[in-house]
Amino acid sequence: MTTDDPSPMEGFSEAVLAWFDQYGRHDLPWQHPATPYRVWISEVMLQQTQVTTVIPFFERFMARFPDVATLAVADRDTVLAHWAGLGYYARARNLHGCAQRLMTDYDGIFPNDYAAVADLPGIGPSTAGAILSLSRDAPHAILDGNVKRVLARYFAVPGWPGRSAVARRLWTCSEAVTPRERTGDFNQAMMDLGATVCLRRPRCEQCPLQSGCQALAAGETETYPGRRPKRDKPRRRTTMLIIHGRDGILLERRPPTGIWAGLWSLPEVPESADTADHWVHEQYRLTIELDAEAPAPLRHEFTHFSLDIQPIRARVTGDGGIADGHRRWYHPQTDEAPGLPAPVHRLIQQEEPLQ
Ligand code: SF4
Repeated sequence: MTTDDPSPMEGFSEAVLAWFDQYGRHDLPWQHPATPYRVWISEVMLQQTQVTTVIPFFERFMARFPDVATLAVADRDTVLAHWAGLGYYARARNLHGCAQRLMTDYDGIFPNDYAAVADLPGIGPSTAGAILSLSRDAPHAILDGNVKRVLARYFAVPGWPGRSAVARRLWTCSEAVTPRERTGDFNQAMMDLGATVCLRRPRCEQCPLQSGCQALAAGETETYPGRRPKRDKPRRRTTMLIIHGRDGILLERRPPTGIWAGLWSLPEVPESADTADHWVHEQYRLTIELDAEAPAPLRHEFTHFSLDIQPIRARVTGDGGIADGHRRWYHPQTDEAPGLPAPVHRLIQQEEPLQ
C-alpha cells in the first residue's frame, strides 16, 4: 500500500490489537476508570511529557480536582500550582477554561459529538479522538506524536509532520487503519507501540507491523519521520533578582498574556535600569544589598527562542512594603508552591539563605 492509495491495510489493526492484548499498557492510572474527564487530563499532560513523569502529576491533579465541576470552580492560581513542573502553562489555562465551558454549555459532561469536543478550548482533533475513543470506544482516529512516528515509517511518508501537508497525509493513513470496533484499544495500542517499540531507534524485531513496514523494508527507519527544518533559534537575555526578605523570596505575578502568563516569577530588571538596587527601590520601595557573587546563568529553551537567565541575589536591608495581589513573599520551605515557571522553580530550589 502507498499513501496515495490509503485503503485500510488488511491485517493492520488485527496485528496491533493482538500485540496490545499481550504487551500493551493496561494499568495506567487514567485507564481505571477511563472516564472522559480522566482521559482528557491525561492526554493534555502527555502532550509534551512522558508517561512516567505524568503519573504523579496526574494523581495529584485528580486528588485535588476529581471532576469537571471541581476544576471549573477552582481559582486559576490553584490550577496553575498543580501544573507547576509540567511546563507549557497555556495547557493548564486551557484546561481551566475548557472545564468552565463544559459546565456552562454541557452540564459538565463531554458531548458525544466529535466536532463539538474538538471545538473546546485546548482540544484539537487528536485529543478529541482520544477522549471519545478511549473512554467511550467511539470510532475516531488519533494522531499524536507517537502515532505519527509509527505511521510515517509504516507508510514511508516523507517530510516533517509539523508541515500541514504531511500531517494531512498521516491523518489519512490513521483513518484508514483505525478499526470501527475496539477503537479505544487500538488507539491506546498505537500510542504504546510508538512509546515502547517504534522509538527514535526502533525495536523492529518486537514490532507486530514489521512484515508490512515500508521504512523497515527499505532499511530507512531512521529517515522517517522527516526532521524539522533547522533554523537558528533567536536568543534572549534577562536578569532575574532573587531578593531574600524576612518572609522569603520576592515573587511577582506575570502579566495575563505572553510567556508564563499569570504565573509567579522573579522580578526581572529591565535593560534600561540604571542599577538593579536603584530599580528595586523605585519599583518596590525596598532597600536591598546585592550579593557580590552572581549564581551561574541558566538557559531555558522555548519552542521559538532560547532564554538566557542571569540571576542576581540580594537581601533586603531596610523596611518596606510590597504587598498587593501581584507581589508576594514566598518561603520555599514552608509555603505551598505557587505556579512557577520551571527555570524559576529551579533557581529557587537551589537557593540557600544569604549570610
Ligand atoms: S517495523 Fe520498525 S519502523 Fe516499522 S513500525 Fe515497527 S518498529 Fe516502527
